[in-house]
Amino acid sequence: MATKVDFYAVLEVERTATAEELKKAYRKQAMRYHPDRNPGDETAEHKFKEINEAYDILKDEQKRAAYDRFGHAAFENGGMGGGGGFGGFGGGGLDDIFEMFGDMMGGRRGGRRRTGNDVQVQVEITLSEAYSGIKKPVEIRTRIACESCHGTGSADSNAGDTTCPTCHGAGAVRAQQGFFLVERPCPTCHGSGKVVKNPCKSCRGSGTTEQTRTLEIAIPPGVEDGTRIRLTGEGEAGGNGVQPGDLYVHVSVGGSDIFQRDGANIYCRVPLRMTQAALGTEIEVPVIDGTRTRVKIPAGTQTGENFRLRGKGFSVLRSSARGDMYIQVAVETPHHLSPRQKELLEEFEAEAGETQDQEKANPEHTGFFAKVRDFFEGK
Ligand SMILES: [Zn+2]
Ligand SMILES: [Zn+2]
Repeated sequence: MATKVDFYAVLEVERTATAEELKKAYRKQAMRYHPDRNPGDETAEHKFKEINEAYDILKDEQKRAAYDRFGHAAFENGGMGGGGGFGGFGGGGLDDIFEMFGDMMGGRRGGRRRTGNDVQVQVEITLSEAYSGIKKPVEIRTRIACESCHGTGSADSNAGDTTCPTCHGAGAVRAQQGFFLVERPCPTCHGSGKVVKNPCKSCRGSGTTEQTRTLEIAIPPGVEDGTRIRLTGEGEAGGNGVQPGDLYVHVSVGGSDIFQRDGANIYCRVPLRMTQAALGTEIEVPVIDGTRTRVKIPAGTQTGENFRLRGKGFSVLRSSARGDMYIQVAVETPHHLSPRQKELLEEFEAEAGETQDQEKANPEHTGFFAKVRDFFEGK
């Protein structure tokens, strides 16, 4: 077996590329090396195969994780099996490229794959659910295999099928789109290539009926806003023994007044009293896991200073790493002083003026007015 090129290098993406970036990179490369655009060019053909093979693995989260850990070995003999189509154009690769071109052109997925429609659902979770991960039930209204005819579409299992008159059994019809010949699922048989002789009454021969299903979606800890989770085969049933489509769960993660998230890191702005910041103190701060922890604030802490709490952030997807939490201090000047407080602060100010080394006590303040002086005196 020839040495294989790194899948990420084939697609010209970083190892950290998101699913969206991978898809973009794949489209770009596949367009460039597509055999229709490079007739008779063997190098392009080889490259096109490599691109499809790479994308076939990397687009699948599980396969990608296996590849990240074990490299190509994960998919060789005895590995988890990367699909049989690697050798030639007959495999998953070409179907996918048809699918891509299909949705690039605003159409439905290509005919060769013969699956039901994909279903998209939106799931909203809170920031703390994103932290811990959660199982969320989602309701999806989709077509499922008809119960009366078990998805065959036939009222009489002995009546059998007959070849579809529209596509002559191919399951797909072809149409010219720019310089590509694009395949679409046959509108008569929806991709199965067959029509039933004696249609089922419940589903009128389609093999599917519409139903609401509830699925429990496992959302992994550390999920970010906008993440898309694919559940293979949980989409719409295709009918007539055609494979079901996939379910895509789009996760949107809510915000918080207390915590701001930046990737795996969390920021929490904590207001301190002026005296706490000046004298130093220990404060209790909330942690995203629902607990609290104590943080030492040294004397002389300024607004904007950060205190890092290691490992108190989100987990990083596909890794055992964890982000950190940052306490961002904001010093609050007191309002509505009592007469006694006012007196004390006036005394404090007088004391500062008389005895303290101002450059040490308030270096920024002193420095600033020194700069102002220099500016106007033209130094
Ligand atoms: Zn047909
Ligand atoms: Zn039926």
